[in-house]
Amino acid sequence: MLKDLFEQRKGFKLVCGAGNEDVVEVERLVTIYSKAGCAFFDVCAKPEIVEAAKKGIINSKIDSPRYLCVSVGIAGDPHITKASINQQKCITCGACKTICPHNAIDFKEKFMINKERCIGCSKCVSACPQKAINMESKIIDYKKVLPQLIEKGIDCIEFHAISTDEKDVDEKWQEINEIYNGLLCISLDRSELGDKKLIERVKRLISSRKDFSTIIQADGVAMSGNNDEWGTTLQAVATAQLFQNSKLPVYIMMSGGTNTKSTELAKLCGVKPHCLAVGSFARKIVKNYLEMDDILTNEQALNEAVKIAKSLIDTSVGNMTND
Ligand code: SF4
Ligand code: SF4
Repeated sequence: MLKDLFEQRKGFKLVCGAGNEDVVEVERLVTIYSKAGCAFFDVCAKPEIVEAAKKGIINSKIDSPRYLCVSVGIAGDPHITKASINQQKCITCGACKTICPHNAIDFKEKFMINKERCIGCSKCVSACPQKAINMESKIIDYKKVLPQLIEKGIDCIEFHAISTDEKDVDEKWQEINEIYNGLLCISLDRSELGDKKLIERVKRLISSRKDFSTIIQADGVAMSGNNDEWGTTLQAVATAQLFQNSKLPVYIMMSGGTNTKSTELAKLCGVKPHCLAVGSFARKIVKNYLEMDDILTNEQALNEAVKIAKSLIDTSVGNMTND
């Protein structure tokens, strides 16, 4: 069971990206990381993406169980936003394309966002000298989409609740609870709420749920984990520490700026997460292999990618399990 990974503090979740709708990349990512020993995958809430992840699990030819989580968000949450270019303002300088970490900006006479690849990191917004790029929330109808995904076989639903709108948070959470009675995850960070309000929100959201039926994804800085530095992961550890000190009956998963330093820093700070979730950094270290058209059949290249992924997983889990 998925809960066993958390009970044993052996959880490692690969975040494919709540906004990553690229079926080819998701299948490749899951194949590589499943082969490397990752048992938990977080994907965008779309049937074709769940299918792609399941194909990746099959490709990996691993007998031990693999678990899938789908991510949904609310207005304002960066994980479900997509960039959009105002062509009237654009001077075709190309700065956005250069900075995009996910190859999500195409150029064919004009610069355009590839919505399937855009993960909502907003790096292009900061880079644009013309203020020509806006971020737009992409909200799905939970009642319509989630039952289809549950039918396909998922193990967890993750609710991205990075918003100051308490009413919206409560209503969407209620909807999810009515649709799904399995393990749920709430993704939160400290960017909008102070520590006190954050803990109050979690207490309220879990009040009607059984103890340890909820995972709290303690986000540092969402989608910031491109660099393997201590500073990048500091917020994730601090947020996990906040939840650990609250002693609430939840599992704690660190995310948002996570890298190879995360669980080591957590250990140094006396923070004991049940799981580590890695997204941007995990994708970055195998990026060259993800771009190879023959990666799933090129045994040598696939093994190289798996070795890189395995090193990240083993280092991270090793720090969580060794006292
Ligand atoms: S920089 Fe980030 S937000 Fe902009 S297009 Fe690329 S992935 Fe999307
Ligand atoms: S950075 Fe802004 S102005 Fe330059 S190409 Fe991109 S959208 Fe256009």
